Amino acid sequence: MRITVLGKSPAWQDAGGACSGYLVEEEGFTLLLDCGNGVFSKLRHRVDYVDVDAVLISHLHADHLLDLIPFSYALRYAPRQQPVAVGGWPGTSRPAHPQLIAPKGAGEMFRHLTQCWGDEELVESAFRLHEYDGPDELTLGPIGVRFCEVPHYTRTFAVELRAGGGRFTYSADCSPNEGLVSFARETDLLLIEATLPRPERTGKRGHLTPAEAGEHGRRAEARRVVLTHFSDELDSDWAQSEASEAFGRPAELAYEGAIYEVPGHGRCD
Ligand SMILES: [Zn+2]
Repeated sequence: MRITVLGKSPAWQDAGGACSGYLVEEEGFTLLLDCGNGVFSKLRHRVDYVDVDAVLISHLHADHLLDLIPFSYALRYAPRQQPVAVGGWPGTSRPAHPQLIAPKGAGEMFRHLTQCWGDEELVESAFRLHEYDGPDELTLGPIGVRFCEVPHYTRTFAVELRAGGGRFTYSADCSPNEGLVSFARETDLLLIEATLPRPERTGKRGHLTPAEAGEHGRRAEARRVVLTHFSDELDSDWAQSEASEAFGRPAELAYEGAIYEVPGHGRCD
């Protein structure tokens, strides 16, 4: 599997950046893992959006799904998607209609969101929506998918992708939890959120610090730990050193355009 970071920002984009979005490619199959604000533009620099086979959403927060809106408009209204010749395109009887795998309640949420401007069916007409709920296992082309519910402010799932003998584990957003440690046991690559400069001091916890992310990686015995979902306003040297100390080995920081091969050694950019 080849994983490319399209966006690693938290709920507000880095300057010139995008929120959560990771392109996963395996044997000609193209999967987009999360589709936060800014991701559709970044995706278009890497692949043709009509070649995306499936989009997988970890949870129903804006920074993980908002660019499903422009993606849906492209699939529905782009001249190349129309049945008749228009705008220099020949017309097609087989417009792109990717799978959209999202947590239970996603359809209702998309309808609620888009009916505000009178386009209730926008997302469900553009994608083939499949809602998942809990520990289901799925197969997407050559990729095996498992889920693990993790604690966050809304129902949220860490995601494991398996292909070619390699395992990639994505924490999604979460507070410290044992479930993720078990779920990520000896994974080849743990992409884990590190949103906070310090733990939340009031209310329910929902995110990790860099040190907590590194500690989860150490306890899971992950082969490789990459931090994500942190702002460009966070001191990256500090974050990396906190995570590395807790991991017990060098932890890495995701950045837009970073490419990881799983299984594999080292990073190729
Ligand atoms: Zn979230």
